[in-house]
Amino acid sequence: MAKLSSSEAAGRVVDRCVQIFGGRGYDRDCPVERLYRELRVDRIWEGTSEIQRLIIAGELRKRGLGFLNLPA
Ligand SMILES: Cc1cc2nc3c(=O)[nH]c(=O)nc-3n(C[C@H](O)[C@H](O)[C@H](O)COP(=O)(O)OP(=O)(O)OC[C@H]3O[C@@H](n4cnc5c(N)ncnc54)[C@H](O)[C@@H]3O)c2cc1C
Repeated sequence: MAKLSSSEAAGRVVDRCVQIFGGRGYDRDCPVERLYRELRVDRIWEGTSEIQRLIIAGELRKRGLGFLNLPA
């Protein structure tokens, strides 16, 4: 769950960064472009986001909300 939420959040943030930098953010010379490329793979390797969601949904179905350990 941590991997899913952090990689999705990082993707949203870096996408916003590229947008803020405009055309420069898309240029290979811009550090933001490299960050965008490097963070993109986090939603693919070590379990794609879709597979992570399937696993979490499966655990929810099996164990109910209890395994989330939510505060009362
Ligand atoms: C740079 C890089 C380094 C890597 N290094 C390693 C490594 O060191 N060791 C290692 O073992 N592997 C490594 N991998 C492989 C990586 O773990 C796989 O790419 C990843 O598991 C996704 O598998 P796939 O590429 O075959 O995509 P696929 O399984 O073909 O999936 C393609 C798309 O379909 C979606 N999808 C697939 N099945 C479902 C489903 N049932 N429901 C909904 N959506 C689905 C996926 O989420 C994805 O969006 C690396 C990959 C990359 C890109």
